[in-house]
Amino acid sequence: MKLSRRSLLKAGGGLGAGLALAELGFNTKPIHAAALKESRTKNASEFTSICTFCSCGCGMLCHVKDGKLINLEGNPDHIINEGALCSKGSAMAAIPNSDQRIKTPLYRAPGSDKWQEISWDEAISKVAAKIKETRDKHWIATEKDGEQEFPVNRTDALSFLGGAQNNNEECYLMSKMSRLFGTVFVEHQARLCHSSTVASLGASFGRGAMTNHWLDLKNAKVFLIEGSNCAENHTMSMRWIMKAKEKGAIVIHVDPRFTRTSTAADIYACIRPGTDIAFLNAVINYIIENNLYDADYVKLNTNALLLPTEGFAFNEGLFSGYNAAEFKYDTASWGYQLDPETKKPLKAESLDDPRCVFAKLKDFFKRYTLKVGSEISGIPEATIQLIAETFAKNRPGTVLYALGMTQHTVGVQNIRSFGVLQMLLGNLGKPGGGINALRGEPNVQGSSDMALLFNTLPGYLSCPSHNQPTLAEWTKGAGTFRAKFLINLFKAWFGENATAENEYGYGWLPKKNAKKNYSIFRIFETAYEDSMKMLYVMGQNPMVSSPNLNLVHDALSKLDMLVVADLFMTETAAFWEKPGTDPKAVKTEVVFLPAASFLEKEGSLTNSGRLVQWRYTGIKPPGQAKSDLEIIDLLFRKVRELYAASTEEKDQIFKRVNWNYPQENMAEAVLKEINGSNLKTGEPLKGIAELQADGSTSSGCWIYAGVFGGGKNLSKRKDNKTDPSGLGLYRDFAWSWPGNMKVLYNRASCDAQGKPLDEANKLIWWDADQGKWAGHDTPDVPKADEGPDKPSGQRPFRMAAEGVARLLTAPYKDPDAASAEGLPRDSSSVATDGPFPEFYEPMESPTGNILHPNVAVNPCVKYPRIKTKQPLGAVKDYPYVLCTSSLAEHWCAGTFTRNVPWLNEMVPETFVEIPERLASKLSIASGDKVRVWSARGELTVPTLVTKRMQTLQVNGREVFIIWMPYNWGYKGLSTAASTNLITIDAGDPNTWIQETKACLVNLAKV
Ligand code: SF4
Repeated sequence: MKLSRRSLLKAGGGLGAGLALAELGFNTKPIHAAALKESRTKNASEFTSICTFCSCGCGMLCHVKDGKLINLEGNPDHIINEGALCSKGSAMAAIPNSDQRIKTPLYRAPGSDKWQEISWDEAISKVAAKIKETRDKHWIATEKDGEQEFPVNRTDALSFLGGAQNNNEECYLMSKMSRLFGTVFVEHQARLCHSSTVASLGASFGRGAMTNHWLDLKNAKVFLIEGSNCAENHTMSMRWIMKAKEKGAIVIHVDPRFTRTSTAADIYACIRPGTDIAFLNAVINYIIENNLYDADYVKLNTNALLLPTEGFAFNEGLFSGYNAAEFKYDTASWGYQLDPETKKPLKAESLDDPRCVFAKLKDFFKRYTLKVGSEISGIPEATIQLIAETFAKNRPGTVLYALGMTQHTVGVQNIRSFGVLQMLLGNLGKPGGGINALRGEPNVQGSSDMALLFNTLPGYLSCPSHNQPTLAEWTKGAGTFRAKFLINLFKAWFGENATAENEYGYGWLPKKNAKKNYSIFRIFETAYEDSMKMLYVMGQNPMVSSPNLNLVHDALSKLDMLVVADLFMTETAAFWEKPGTDPKAVKTEVVFLPAASFLEKEGSLTNSGRLVQWRYTGIKPPGQAKSDLEIIDLLFRKVRELYAASTEEKDQIFKRVNWNYPQENMAEAVLKEINGSNLKTGEPLKGIAELQADGSTSSGCWIYAGVFGGGKNLSKRKDNKTDPSGLGLYRDFAWSWPGNMKVLYNRASCDAQGKPLDEANKLIWWDADQGKWAGHDTPDVPKADEGPDKPSGQRPFRMAAEGVARLLTAPYKDPDAASAEGLPRDSSSVATDGPFPEFYEPMESPTGNILHPNVAVNPCVKYPRIKTKQPLGAVKDYPYVLCTSSLAEHWCAGTFTRNVPWLNEMVPETFVEIPERLASKLSIASGDKVRVWSARGELTVPTLVTKRMQTLQVNGREVFIIWMPYNWGYKGLSTAASTNLITIDAGDPNTWIQETKACLVNLAKV
């Protein structure tokens, strides 16, 4: 199916001829279930599920007759979507019955040009044997660092990519299995979409998650939506934004492209991709200079009054402590002056003290005048001023963002600017406030919680490194508070074999090399360098979704074995069929495992607002397809069987681990393990407070303790009526982590005495009569019975070691008064590229850096990592800025949506969208084919000329921005060139997230 000139206009959507907002599914009125009144569902059985596309977590009502799904619609009893579904959600009805589904395991032999069907036994045996062979051959028992030799128990030749659409239980088991095999190369899509969110929000506030929740959007008075087209990509968020608008809320949209979200905005600003910090810092500076900030909130709830070390400095684009040879900072000078006795930070009396964090902040931000913000970002000065005034004067205000902010070499610092803004305005911990990270996939929150990321273990516990050979050494870095949770994880994994004497099995886990990066980018790079031998991919399609695809393709070609578990044939599994590839030259063995869709299996998933919901099933997978949970279980058992006779120490982990899940209701059994239990009574834990550090309790992921509270699966709860707060909390509908808390940091919604700042919209309060914190929400306080007169009653951001939000991300370890060994209680994380967010140009930029010409780009970015495969383009050869993103009609790599005929009909092919001025300059009309090329690759696509793309004035010259969706590849019902052939894989130095939102390209008519 190809684009005609007419269909291009249709594909463009939005403006004029496009869809009205309500047609996308966010009409604010509840929708009644249509099917219930219709005869087609008569005598049909019914089950509910949760959508598998974006992270709104919309409820679905499904009808089954004769084993077949005959109807799917929005669940009218669901609190988030109230019966509505967007175009993608509705399209899910096509997936179970699709004739494109793969129904039997497939095998592609080395050098072959075809697949052959094999049995499950053969498939699992092949994969298990290769895992054993790889593990045995490439085992690293110890590793030298200088003169010292450390035990590491690791293999670097085996890697796993999990999926953000898989259920929590599947992610947890993959996380557990891969670590038992001894690999640290465990990653998934979150690395590519929101890893910068977790690092940034974690460093600012102590937790890396969206602070509020979807329904809370209705409580905001102003929205700053930046780097997100939520109307198309998180459609149900608009339902709640529109409800707020009906009450008078103001919507501000800042984005390089005028989208359907912009059509709902009161103020729209077109921004040059990659310049968000310059814009936001100008907003922040305006707020500071005009005293629009909330001084009382800032003093009570942030580290504004703490004293940084005297060595802290910032000059010409560099903070103190920079080491140019290593592209790194020594962060010691960013810390606090400490009281010599208590080791707690010294504190100023007032914000006017020139030594305090607030004074340093003012000084740092004063360079960001409206003029500087405008020259860099392309947004007119008057618009920046209008946005600053509007956002500051209408509180509470909330921030919504997505990949437009995260996918940059300054991704972490982009979100840090949001953090500083919201701290200054006192918009955190309150209904209608917060920083709302709109996750792109249905369970990217849960898959991250379960640690399908190399640097963490479940619950964001740091993955042990080679230089932390003992639990005590690990605790020196992470603190006693988190060591307790790690012990509970080990008890869940190793049961009675985990004892205090053997440090609960700490030594059995693989230790990463502290100097190495094990991100998804390094999986492909090490494969390209010939040291990665095997990759297992579950529910992800990196041959479309990863940047710089030519490198990904060459890397896959060097593996010994690739295993892909998915519903449809993917470009990753069929990488050897990429146009222009000779299959005979590709020696990689490939095993394809047919997987069940989310409608064909049970399990829980966690939406962007941390709401854990249960998916039921009423249909069977087609053919021989199996759920990923069953596949992982089969595979682990087979590998364990292969090691049954081994007496080698490295293989004893298979005997020590708890892995005997029942075949019936396996998902619930796994969720119980994730929740944890009292090991003396066998009772499931009711919450985090019950976790003990002495080995008497277990919990596979401590932040989920309570999801099975009282022995009931609380993710199944469905009370959509009870909400005494009127704020949309619905605390008996499903369950949110942590402890069913809806608004994180809600202690900050009260004053110092524990009295709500907004009585009409109160979340929690100190109940002096009862002697405890009470409220509509779970109080976010360390101890429910310790009030404002106790130190613990004054820790509004208790998950940060300081107990307050961090305007300056200082390295800090809170001393543990109870530790005889002098161990810290907790430690705050640091953004490695600066304690304040500084603007740097993208790695490929059309202009110099006017703030500090000699430090144009992020000084901590090391790129290229492989010179021959990661070339950088210059503006003289590549004059246009390319920004990429997704569409309302297609999702991520398009594996699902490009197999749905009616979505293909709506948007049949990829295209490049260019501004009218550029079209006229190059004599291009809509529908013309153009060649688009970067330093890394090229493709040919049709053009869409629109007014939605604008031409910007940047640093005194004209800059053209062009845009492309990235959802296509060469498999599925709709095929087209992948945009990621030309994008860049330079990454943020904190999390390595790639800069897919801004790179340089050239373009010409063919
Ligand atoms: S894609 Fe998102 S907004 Fe659309 S139905 Fe699914 S969860 Fe809801």
